[in-house]
Amino acid sequence: MSEHGRADVVIIGGAIIGSAVATFLAARPDFDGRIVVVERDPTFRTSSTTLSAASIRLQFSTPLNIEISRFGLEVVRHPERFLTVGGEAPDVDFVENGYLFLATDAGLATLEHNHAVQRSLDVPVDLLTPAEIRRRFPWINADDLAGASLGLAGEGWFDAYALLQGFRRRARSLGVMQRVGEVTGIDLEGGRAAAVRLSDGSRIETDWVVNAAGPRAAEVAGMAGIALPVRPRKRFVYHLEAPISLGAAPLTIDPSGIYFRPEGPAYLAGYSPRGDDPDPDTLDLAVDESRFESHVWPALAHRVPAFDRLRLLDAWAGLYEVNTLDHNAIVGPHPSIRNLLFANGFSGHGLQQAPAVGRGLAEWIATGRYESLDLSRLGYERIERGEPILELNVV
Ligand SMILES: Cc1cc2nc3c(=O)[nH]c(=O)nc-3n(C[C@H](O)[C@H](O)[C@H](O)COP(=O)(O)OP(=O)(O)OC[C@H]3O[C@@H](n4cnc5c(N)ncnc54)[C@H](O)[C@@H]3O)c2cc1C
Repeated sequence: MSEHGRADVVIIGGAIIGSAVATFLAARPDFDGRIVVVERDPTFRTSSTTLSAASIRLQFSTPLNIEISRFGLEVVRHPERFLTVGGEAPDVDFVENGYLFLATDAGLATLEHNHAVQRSLDVPVDLLTPAEIRRRFPWINADDLAGASLGLAGEGWFDAYALLQGFRRRARSLGVMQRVGEVTGIDLEGGRAAAVRLSDGSRIETDWVVNAAGPRAAEVAGMAGIALPVRPRKRFVYHLEAPISLGAAPLTIDPSGIYFRPEGPAYLAGYSPRGDDPDPDTLDLAVDESRFESHVWPALAHRVPAFDRLRLLDAWAGLYEVNTLDHNAIVGPHPSIRNLLFANGFSGHGLQQAPAVGRGLAEWIATGRYESLDLSRLGYERIERGEPILELNVV
């Protein structure tokens, strides 16, 4: 139904990023404005948030990404501190098994470099020799490996849907309006975003617009005439049954780019294309199982010989929102349309970054600056200048 209205803040997209911004803003004692979150699909069936591998790590090469995940970790470990409603907090079922990055000779120098950065920030990580890899993880074939980096605490995986619903419930309890609808236009007036238009003909005037549209972020930025280098790219997740238990195995990242981790008694695996692998822009979520047979399974069985007898239970596809400049988030105001804020381009690590980015944009809207963690390095300015932030640990 078409209706017109006013808000102080309109957030486009109500999955993990939009809901985190709304929740942290609404929870601030110094902000009492009207927040409207507009979401085109409240089932979240096709959102990246619900299709993700839902894991969190501290093993980044960029100090800012490490600090961002640290706050994500605090929320995942202690949802009761942030998401309690009526005495109840969501159970996000955090499995803290760590990440294990494996390296051949070619990747060892990068592994050691990242290790030094991480240790300088007190991240609990260990570098393992091939002999140590074999001792700790006897199921790994370490013949072609030169080393590994193991996270000892603060890394693992959790229930993304429970976290999302926790944020949404908390946002509602704080008075956030969650509206079903599709934003199709942004009206600019005097160099500002003045209103958003919905496909049902509604128009909402607003002081702030937040782009939290995930893989559709460039489409939304385009409504304000802005080019955003964020592209929807398909990533498969395979749900596997194996004839052996690897025990409390970490999320293991193979040098081939393939990763796997336990999921209850079964396993999840996936990969991101490397080098010249085709990686077209698409919103399509159809699953191509042939890639599993030809590419993924052989690599898994090479690394874990017991995976030779895997069974594919299920598979799905989700969309990475790839920032083609540098695979890092784009966060904060557009340099000339200052009341249009980005929270986009997370390139496969947005779930764990949602709490810090939500808190950061809430600070920005309420006070005009970042208070707890300076996110300005992630600003849009670097896109205009073509200056990437190099993150070496992209999964
Ligand atoms: C296979 C896979 C594995 C991943 N693994 C991890 C991981 O292990 N750890 C991690 O941290 N991250 C991971 N990610 C990335 C993470 O899931 C995303 O970065 C994060 O969920 C992005 O959240 P979002 O809210 O920005 O986007 P989304 O969850 O996609 O939400 C965007 C929302 O905006 C809505 N929307 C879009 N356009 C409009 C419009 N015009 N009007 C109204 N609503 C609109 C959409 O319906 C959608 O609900 C993974 C992603 C995939 C696909």
